[in-house]
Amino acid sequence: MLRNITLSNGKTVEVECLSCALTSRMIEPEGGAIIETAFFHAHQDVAYPIKGLVILASRRHIKGMDELTEEERLDYIQLLANIRKAQREVLGIESVYYFYNEDTTHHFHTWMVPRYPWMESFGRSIESVRPVLLHARNERNNEKNRMEVMQAIKTLRRELNA
Ligand SMILES: [Zn+2]
Repeated sequence: MLRNITLSNGKTVEVECLSCALTSRMIEPEGGAIIETAFFHAHQDVAYPIKGLVILASRRHIKGMDELTEEERLDYIQLLANIRKAQREVLGIESVYYFYNEDTTHHFHTWMVPRYPWMESFGRSIESVRPVLLHARNERNNEKNRMEVMQAIKTLRRELNA
């Protein structure tokens, strides 16, 4: 199924799978990739201005965790842990929520959503994740937060590619 994606520069592109478009570098995520390996690609979706939020997507168009090859599995856990470490060490992020659903319209990708004090009012259960993301997108989409997000992308990239 083809989907229309509107880029941050206002251009619209038609893609089969957003994750494929990103990981193949057909489209560049705002702020750029945070880290790339032969099997994975990490970026931030700046539509949700949450400092240190990372989306880790596989390069291959697969849906299920069980479709990962041995090499991909090792790379995945290594990357998740390294990104988590960087979030803690250079951004001071104490807790992260991980979210990944297999029945996505894109392909295999894991959200790493840092927790901040303002999120407490949405609770700590799985049901809090969507309201938190929507609140960030609708209520916290200001210049200050966007600048922080862009800075955090750079900081993480520097740390992870050092
Ligand atoms: Zn794909």
